[in-house]
Amino acid sequence: MTPELSAKMEEYARLLLRRNEVMNLTGAATVGEIMSRHILDSLAVGRFLPRGGRVVDVGSGAGFPGLPLAAAMPDTEFVLLDAREKRVAFLEEARDALGLINVRCVFGRAEELALLPEWREAFDAAVSRAVARLNTLSELCVPLVKPGGVFVAMKAADCAEEAAEAAFALRKLGAPEFSVESYEADGVGYAAVVAKKSEMTPEGFPRRFSKIKKNPLQE
Ligand code: SAM
Repeated sequence: MTPELSAKMEEYARLLLRRNEVMNLTGAATVGEIMSRHILDSLAVGRFLPRGGRVVDVGSGAGFPGLPLAAAMPDTEFVLLDAREKRVAFLEEARDALGLINVRCVFGRAEELALLPEWREAFDAAVSRAVARLNTLSELCVPLVKPGGVFVAMKAADCAEEAAEAAFALRKLGAPEFSVESYEADGVGYAAVVAKKSEMTPEGFPRRFSKIKKNPLQE
């Protein structure tokens, strides 16, 4: 990490802790903990993302992984999406405090926005962490990605079974080819499921959230 990026990330962590006193943003209690558990994990997945295009972070919450990635990749446009308005207000405050001109913060639900022409298959990549199990998450994220783009789901190191369970959903949504990539951040092992979108998502997907949740796509 460059000294400039490191200073920005510390400023972000301090702001997050201050706002966490009045709203529920993170379970982390110190700048060191935020840096180790959240920021370094977020930055580590930059290696799976294309440079120079548009990336959507689905369910960004307090900004992970999208905000650190946007600070590290100024040539790439990031859309930080969340279904909770207060979290989006925090994301806007953090973006402005860090002076990130490559970030747009949007309040909304992924599965609803993906039905709009300006959102559907509009991104070079979708990334997401700690939002839903992969079979469900795939239906929230893959429809937003262009054919030729990539969906990156940040998971625990032992996610092989979850990835296998999502194979049908990924194939159905247009991303039949995927791999589970192990990586490390601050000495902790994680995995990213990296799915290449090669076909358009069929009409009728994503379904309404109640349906996605009740009947995740499976064979
Ligand atoms: N990605 C962040 C992280 O790793 O710390 C936040 C994780 S938090 C547990 C999950 C977030 O996903 C919440 O802020 C929630 O509002 C958002 N979310 C859940 N379903 C969503 C959907 N369908 N569309 C957009 N955001 C969603």
